[in-house]
Formats: sequence, structure tokens, C-alpha cells
Amino acid sequence: MRITVLAGGIGGAKFLTGVRAFAEQRGQDGDPSEVTAIVNTGDDVTMHGLRITPDLDSVLYTLAGVIDTERGWGRAGESWRIKQALAEYGAEPSWFGLGDLDIATHLVRTQMLDAGYRLSDVTAALSQRWQPGVRLLPMTDERCETHVVVSGPGPEDPRRAIHFQEWWVRYRAGLAAEAFVQVGLDQAKPAPGVIEAIAGADLVLVAPSNPVVSIGTILAVDGIGEAVRTTSAPVVGLSPIVGGAPVRGMADRCLAVIGVPTTAEGVGLHYGSRRDGGLLDGWLVHSGDSAVVPGVSVRQRPLLMTSAEVTAEMVADAAGLVGIST
Ligand code: GDP
Ligand code: CA
Repeated sequence: MRITVLAGGIGGAKFLTGVRAFAEQRGQDGDPSEVTAIVNTGDDVTMHGLRITPDLDSVLYTLAGVIDTERGWGRAGESWRIKQALAEYGAEPSWFGLGDLDIATHLVRTQMLDAGYRLSDVTAALSQRWQPGVRLLPMTDERCETHVVVSGPGPEDPRRAIHFQEWWVRYRAGLAAEAFVQVGLDQAKPAPGVIEAIAGADLVLVAPSNPVVSIGTILAVDGIGEAVRTTSAPVVGLSPIVGGAPVRGMADRCLAVIGVPTTAEGVGLHYGSRRDGGLLDGWLVHSGDSAVVPGVSVRQRPLLMTSAEVTAEMVADAAGLVGIST
């Protein structure tokens, strides 16, 4: 079975540990699966001359078992001497976390990109090092960076577009935001293999990732949304919203910007049914969350990803929801 997953950072990464466990389990039963993850790169940014890809790194570090699980990003056992030394120079930005071990990854990536390799080549090279056990593809090789139209914090601060990382990390999504804009979207093409992975899948899964700045960003790349809407594979999503709130993080702030209620039903309706030109055939919501999404099979089940094994059972239920026996 070929499974293709649309994924952001933390939620996408945790979900992928479950998809990998599910595939390994099937492999032991004699039915090998192939997992491809298409990862959001809208959060990517250049800082201190380093090209940084936060969601790809979260996925890579999580699948390699080296993520800092408390913090939710970066490597476990990290030290911060370079960040400190940069601060002593007064080098900006000072609000972005750059650990010493993490910087090694950014140096390798930046060097490869400067030498002319594509981000998808870099991702393959980093996967050689970390052996994530699934095929990782950036959504695009082109730069396509999410910006946020904001005003404030002071009355003298003009209305302007700032990089998503500045809004999210520096201002903790606390600056009044009007809209998200993907700078570079008009030039962005799906990375090699992305369209094929969607069109050739037996099952497409939409991870419980941020619906706006992770999943929404991936779907906006020319041809990707269309590929998901037209693939012959069933498409099943899992709600990142549990009990009317994100499990972790500030996805509610992003949903508010686009006028979508922070509920499992709100996100399900936002994605919509494939029958009506939307995204989903199936939608898994957390036990106790109700959702009516016309044209979509909805099922309640626990959606807290407490371990790879627990998450693998969610994947089995997602497959079962669209009639794939596991
Ligand atoms: P980011 O790029 O690091 O922000 O990560 P993603 O976009 O992949 O995922 C963020 C979303 O993951 C948040 O909206 C969380 O609600 C969701 N999330 C995190 N842990 C869980 C979990 O255990 N269960 C569910 N259903 N969602 C989760
Ligand atoms: Ca992200």
C-alpha cells in the first residue's frame, strides 16, 4: 500500500511516527507499505545567512528520535553557545532559537543550496544521515514563504507584511493579523515526486497539522490542491482541533485570521468534501467532538498522539473509514 501524507511540523512529525509504525506492522504481516510525506516549507527562512526549514527539521528529528520532545522543536541535549555569541555581537534576529547542534544541519543545507542543489536533494541527503524510514519531500524546491499582514504593536507601527516566523515566534501570534500571504507562490512548482506521490497513492492522509499555515500552504502550491482533489486514492484527514482548541500551539490564532471556527467541524467544513470540490472523503475527530460535514464520512475516536503505537491505530482507523481493510 502506498500512503502519502501532507504534513507540517510537530503535528505532522508525531503523526508520521504512527504512519511509519503502521507500515512496519503491515510489513511484518507480509504486506509492505511505502510512505511518502509532503512537508510544508512555507515556514522556511534565512537567518544569520543560514537557510532554515523548520517543519522538515521537526519531521526529520522526530522520526530519527533526536527531537527535544519538551520544547517540540530542535534537538535533544542541545546547547546554545553560538546563539549567545551572536547576541553578544548584537546580531539580529535574537528571538529565533538556533541551537549549536541544529546549526550543523543548517550549515550543511545552506552549503548544498549555495552549491546549486535543490531543497529536495538536500532533504534526501539529510535523510541519508537520519534514516527517517519514510520518504520526505518538500512541497516545493522554490522559496515560498508565508508572511502575515499585521499592524502594531504600537500605534506608530505601520500596516505591513512580516515573515511568519516573526509573527509566530517573536510576537507569539499576538499581533493583530489580517491575512496570510505566500511570497513566491506564483513561481513555486511542486517538488519532484510530489504530484506522482499523490496521484499514485492508495491512501492520502492529511495529518493533524495546522490547517492554515501547514496544510493550507501545501495545498496552495500550483497543482498540489488539484492533485489531492482528483487522485483516485481516498483522502482522510485527522483533526488537529480537540475539544475546541489546538492540542498544542496557536492554530486557533491562524484559523481566526481566515474566519474559520476553532472546532473539528469548522476545520472539516473548511477542508470540505471531495464530492463538492473539497479535500476530504473521511474526517477523524476526537471522541466527544461532533462534526457534520456533508459528503464526508466522519468518525469519532481518540486523537491524542501519545505514542507511535497509539497513533498507528489512528492510521488503521483512517484507512478503515474509507473501506481499506488493515
Ligand atoms: P507546526 O508546523 O510545528 O506548527 O506543526 P503542525 O502544523 O504539523 O501541527 C500543529 C498542530 O498539531 C496543532 O494545531 C496541534 O493541535 C496539532 N497536534 C499536536 N499534537 C497533537 C495530538 O496529539 N493530536 C492531535 N489531534 N493534534 C495534535
Ligand atoms: Ca510549521
